Amino acid sequence: MSSHQDFVIIGAGPTGCALGAYLARGGASVTLVEAVERPESVVGESMLPCSRVVFDELGLDTTGFLVKRGAVFCASEADGGGSVRFDFSEAEDPVYTHAWQVQREVFDLRWRDVATAHGCAIVYAKVTEVNVAGGRVESSAGAFEAGRIVDTGGRTMWLSQKLGLRVGDARLKNSAVGTRMRGVRALGRDQPGDITICCIPGGWIWIIPFGEGIASVGVVMSPDCPLRGSAEERFNGAMALSPEAWSRLQDAERILPLRGLQDFTASSKSFHGPGFALCGDAATFIDPVFSSGVLLGLCGARSLAPALLDGSESALDRWQAEYRDGAGIFRKVIDHWYAGDFMTVALAEPRLQKPYYRRGIVSLLAGDVYNPARTSPRRMAERMGELAAKVREHGGATRTTGEATG
Ligand SMILES: Cc1cc2nc3c(=O)[nH]c(=O)nc-3n(C[C@H](O)[C@H](O)[C@H](O)COP(=O)(O)OP(=O)(O)OC[C@H]3O[C@@H](n4cnc5c(N)ncnc54)[C@H](O)[C@@H]3O)c2cc1C
Repeated sequence: MSSHQDFVIIGAGPTGCALGAYLARGGASVTLVEAVERPESVVGESMLPCSRVVFDELGLDTTGFLVKRGAVFCASEADGGGSVRFDFSEAEDPVYTHAWQVQREVFDLRWRDVATAHGCAIVYAKVTEVNVAGGRVESSAGAFEAGRIVDTGGRTMWLSQKLGLRVGDARLKNSAVGTRMRGVRALGRDQPGDITICCIPGGWIWIIPFGEGIASVGVVMSPDCPLRGSAEERFNGAMALSPEAWSRLQDAERILPLRGLQDFTASSKSFHGPGFALCGDAATFIDPVFSSGVLLGLCGARSLAPALLDGSESALDRWQAEYRDGAGIFRKVIDHWYAGDFMTVALAEPRLQKPYYRRGIVSLLAGDVYNPARTSPRRMAERMGELAAKVREHGGATRTTGEATG
């Protein structure tokens, strides 16, 4: 049995490593228990500018990652086509105007370096059992004792499930298939790091470039999406449904196998309790259309660390309320995404576009949901349905805006 630690963290993904680093910086002893010795290429590759506060505070090395300055959204052919680009510099009082596209096998290793540089120990073992009341974690490398156990082990929501806290999201029963490709054509503009989201009936495609024609490509499908069959059939079918995606991918080849994921949106009734806390995907995960996952995990870790060091349940209650609130802003807009309101507002003709439409959308896309002084993302989330109704009433969306890309 290893020595007693203040905190044992399950999982050394970005959330676990950031949390461990903040806790160790605050003087706590921390052991991270991680199942996978060499991180793999996983989804979660497009970062949001507001994550950078955590990158900067903890000293994450971003050398070599492709700079991401904005996002391009393409409407489906069925909705008349057209596209719009948002640049992070258009956000409300932006502090950070770019982020990066990251290959997760590299990104996650760098997070582990951050954790160890701050004094955390990382043990490579799979956690197999936890006794939260007794502060005991069993793993393939033996047992650990801790003052508090934090699960940051990702979407399996292992501890949340075990404690009966996991709640699915009936409105988001989506699935995804993704891969990495070589030979992907650039957007043909001067923003090579933009993420592209292409709508198809009942779903959307992501293209996340890493440079030199390599990109992560995938499709998210709601139950309304007509695509059926094997992962291969659904992936190829999706690309054929989007002229924008097809024009960029027709000469590309897959360099990683297709991977399927399903029913990934879920949350937990509580994010903490006596002896434990949950953070990152292990606590709550929302549909990935706005690339919010890593941002939520990192910002959650940043505010969880002082609450854990304080140790009182009231500090943890305040953390939980704040963490849920920021994630809730994305959750609201995601409903509007699947209702078609987001694209209606995003593509609204200039005569219908109040300046705060774009400012609100871009602040949200930048991930600015944890700054109480920043009102526009929240306002956008609350008013998006009403704004979309107004745009439709006054003649709908323009097909190609001045900012559009092809
Ligand atoms: C289709 C799709 C696309 C996405 N795209 C994006 C995107 O573009 N941008 C973005 O920010 N987010 C995206 N996400 C979300 C993103 O992948 C996650 O939010 C993010 O990886 C969460 O980080 P984490 O550290 O909380 O968990 P993870 O990254 O999942 O890390 C968990 C770690 O815990 C370890 N672990 C798990 N179980 C155990 C165990 N029993 N014992 C020991 N170790 C264990 C794992 O090996 C892993 O290293 C996407 C998600 C999906 C489904």
